[in-house]
Amino acid sequence: MESSKGWQQNEETPQKLRLILVGKSGSGKSATGNSILGRTQFESRLSPVPVTQAVHIGKREWDGKELEVMDTPNLLCHMDPPEGPIQGMCEAISLSSPGPHAVLLVTQLGRFTDQDRQAALRLQELFGVGVLAHTILVFTRKEDLGGGSLDEYLQDPGNQDLVRLDTLCARRHCGFNNRAQESEQEDQLKELMKQVEVVLWEHEGRCYSNSAYLYSQKRLLEREEQGRQTVSGPESKEELDEEAWLEELCRIQKKSEESHRCVLGRAHL
Ligand code: GDP
Ligand code: MG
Repeated sequence: MESSKGWQQNEETPQKLRLILVGKSGSGKSATGNSILGRTQFESRLSPVPVTQAVHIGKREWDGKELEVMDTPNLLCHMDPPEGPIQGMCEAISLSSPGPHAVLLVTQLGRFTDQDRQAALRLQELFGVGVLAHTILVFTRKEDLGGGSLDEYLQDPGNQDLVRLDTLCARRHCGFNNRAQESEQEDQLKELMKQVEVVLWEHEGRCYSNSAYLYSQKRLLEREEQGRQTVSGPESKEELDEEAWLEELCRIQKKSEESHRCVLGRAHL
């Protein structure tokens, strides 16, 4: 599928684009976020334990658009999560409302392991199966390809799970060498943004949404409305409202995860 209009002329392209980085811990999410932003904003380093503990957002202007890049902690780690990760997911939802335009699933180039396969499943479980229609596969350590191309790597018949995931994401993928110099970094970003443009074109500029995002968006609209009315209640009441709201968001998220899990139980990846 091809976008016939250019980036600049495409009136379906929203002014603000929300991109969420997800993936296993150590896959290079934060480093990729820094490459996109063109500066070191997110902490990125080699570590046996997850470095990123909370959601962080960085912004930049790109080709007349505002890019809002969200770095996340390891949301995709467990298939059967305890209470903790749901809070992280709800934080990610509330900070990326009304929803991401594109989800960047970051994987390190090399062997696509069972852990990677589980991470792709977990992504669909958390956001809903439809999220793959907004997902772009981002492979870090692109320099490890040597002279080879990413397309060749993704056609390797020895990597059936990866080939299948790539197909489910309509072959939207790109590579990042997060240690590259400036001009190469700019070229990598251009490649990524071409894929983002395809996602936008396919969805007529709409971001991804689900029941949790809709609930969160309602809150945003209510706040805007309250802001216009200026008179605010006592702080303790606001805190109470916030707590109840978060509790309800967690309940909605848990419920939708359960139903996605049922759907995924019948899927192959
Ligand atoms: P995160 O846990 O997914 O956020 O991963 P990080 O961004 O913290 O990266 C983990 C390690 O991989 C760090 O030491 C990064 O410098 C390294 N890294 C990330 N991307 C690349 C890359 O494209 N090339 C190389 N050589 N190292 C990378
Ligand atoms: Mg990180």
